[in-house]
Amino acid sequence: MTIEITTVPCLADNYAYLIHNHTENTTCLIDAPEATPIIGYLEKRAWNLDKIFLTHHHSDHVAGLGDLLKRYSANVSGATADVKRLPSLDAELKENDKFYLGTIEFSVMEVYGHTIGHIALYSKKISAVFSGDSLMTLGCGRLFEGNPGIMWETLQKFSRLPPETKIYSGHEYGEKNANFAISIDPDNKKLQDRVALIKKLRLNNFPTVPSTIGAELETNPFLRAGNAELKKFLGLSKDEDAAVLAELRSRRDIF
Ligand code: ZN
Ligand code: FE
Repeated sequence: MTIEITTVPCLADNYAYLIHNHTENTTCLIDAPEATPIIGYLEKRAWNLDKIFLTHHHSDHVAGLGDLLKRYSANVSGATADVKRLPSLDAELKENDKFYLGTIEFSVMEVYGHTIGHIALYSKKISAVFSGDSLMTLGCGRLFEGNPGIMWETLQKFSRLPPETKIYSGHEYGEKNANFAISIDPDNKKLQDRVALIKKLRLNNFPTVPSTIGAELETNPFLRAGNAELKKFLGLSKDEDAAVLAELRSRRDIF
């Protein structure tokens, strides 16, 4: 089975993803920030759009849905927990529910913290997770709903995925996240190397997605909020991990 994952840049810094199964000729879209670039790519490849998976209700992830549905009779899935705020859904999903694109199986992860009701899609088979605005390249989404403990739980969930899992997140924040990460974890050699790589990618306008769980565990300060050295550097040695995460996120908000 040949799977192709395409990154579709949308709006100012959003990413939508098309997962295409060449064997079965089926395509799934992850998030619908705007219709035009997505339709453009589908037309270019002569692919139909069969399924749409929405990570969360924010308009920069759903605004293109109406125009896409005028053109394709795609089946739309989103979180059970957020049906009131999401566009109308054909399938409602909760933690551990299965989602299929033909014979590729995914499982649903509830990854709250950016919003309550945010979901991600993980496939062991293709070693990929679509994380929306939860876990991102060297970062995590803003804490709009819930509390820092909820986002910390979410990040722990991601950290338990196999290290080779590729992370496809909802925005291109790689360079800003890299500058922030190195400012609070300057002696981390692996991070130094990654920052250099990310700068090179952005200079050539390449995306900094996908990342991998393994790389994020070594370099993402938000995943490392429980790390003793990082806590010491921040002067927060006695704080709970979730409180360190909250401090990191509020520093990043004004960075
Ligand atoms: Zn969002
Ligand atoms: Fe977003």
